Amino acid sequence: MSESTEISAFEHYRQVLARRDAQELATLAQIKRFNECFYGDAEFREGLLADPEKAGELTRERGLDLDPEDIAPFWQNGPMPRLEKEALEGYPLAQLWTDWISELLKFREMIRQGGDSGGLNPAFDAWRRRQMARLGSELGNHADTITHSVFAFELSHGCSMGCWFCGVGAEPLAGVWAYTPENRQLWREILQRSQQLLNGSLQTGFCYWATEPADNPDYLSFIADFHQISGEMPQTTTAAPLKDLAWTRELMDMHRRHPSVPPRFSVLSTPILRRLHETFSPAELFGVELVLQTKGTLVQRAASGRNMEAEPKEEGPLPGTIACVSGFLVNLTQGHIRLISPCQASENWPLGYRVYAEGAFSDAEEFGDFIQQAVAEHMPRQADGLPLLAWRRDLAYEPLPDGFTLENRFKRHTVKGQPFLAEMGKLIAAGRYSAGEVIDRLCQGGADFFGVQASLQDLFDRGRLDDEPAPVEPAQRRAS
Ligand code: SF4
Repeated sequence: MSESTEISAFEHYRQVLARRDAQELATLAQIKRFNECFYGDAEFREGLLADPEKAGELTRERGLDLDPEDIAPFWQNGPMPRLEKEALEGYPLAQLWTDWISELLKFREMIRQGGDSGGLNPAFDAWRRRQMARLGSELGNHADTITHSVFAFELSHGCSMGCWFCGVGAEPLAGVWAYTPENRQLWREILQRSQQLLNGSLQTGFCYWATEPADNPDYLSFIADFHQISGEMPQTTTAAPLKDLAWTRELMDMHRRHPSVPPRFSVLSTPILRRLHETFSPAELFGVELVLQTKGTLVQRAASGRNMEAEPKEEGPLPGTIACVSGFLVNLTQGHIRLISPCQASENWPLGYRVYAEGAFSDAEEFGDFIQQAVAEHMPRQADGLPLLAWRRDLAYEPLPDGFTLENRFKRHTVKGQPFLAEMGKLIAAGRYSAGEVIDRLCQGGADFFGVQASLQDLFDRGRLDDEPAPVEPAQRRAS
């Protein structure tokens, strides 16, 4: 993690857990389960809202030892994902939960801000920051939920689950990477090479993408190696938590012994949610995030991959991507590696991420060579590393007498305050000039060289300039 972060995000998570006593953790586990029922089980929610007098009875029927009146602000007026502080006055349990969630949100933000190489590779760190800034402008507030993890390792090819809404368009399962002695050695060398090149950013990595972890019978051995080498457990998201309970319990136990980031269960239906609640106590599931994909869920899905054409909800689908990696997507079964970054899903990028470079490797040396080449070729530190300057495609440019605006459906950026900005905006909008030509033209008109250069660098760092790679061929758009 970045040296500028006093403690790592993972240490923050451990401290957040350690600060709560057993009673508080037990109460939080009860509230968490109540919320899972309320948001993921339409029958429970509708029953509660139709007859609030019966809320206690309905809650007890779900095995909960919680008076719903104690957290009334969360549900009495319908779903309330965000509440003003005043609404929680007189509700200490609701306050306890809200504080817990705030600390988890801080944890996510710490991964975003600190998940780079900590200065070991300045070009990579600047590129990742630029992608974060670009996405913030491209997707608006939704981008704040994206961690920009640096590595995703697929340990299978394809996925057995075939979810209709799959945001990364996973193909059917075609093979898994076995934990043979040779593969174990290669795996460990790849993790070590990742760490040598990009330092603690390996800790933000995880071992799935368009794959289901439970498809690979050796998955737990691979993540044990990941923990040993990186120092942290990688996040796991499984959509098959009931397939093999011994496997699931072992996964949960590994996270209990080495807390770093909560594992996640993707819950595909209401009956699965109920079975999970029957199988695991609230305390057992407290450390597991449930991703509620049930019918009637109040949790929105991003419009990307197979969900791109999905029926919009009343409020419309979320801006489209579930991709969360600005870095390297690696498939071990195929020896395939890509440099990617999230974006709005589109015809060019239906899976919600751009592909800047791709290649093959057969050993850790070639794997490392790809990373180094990708940094050298695709991560310029300055705008003069772009062949021609242009505004991003999603931004509409409008001239102002003393500058310009750039606008999409989420953001409006106004740039003014320097006499040369109106002309700079026009030259970049033409899409015909390199950085050197823009600087020359403005300086010939009397602008200050250093002022022009600083403004250009600022626009570059904020991700306003177009650095979109050429789209990959449809045949290469496979999920893995
Ligand atoms: S959403 Fe996850 S589990 Fe479902 S098909 Fe896609 S990759 Fe597989």
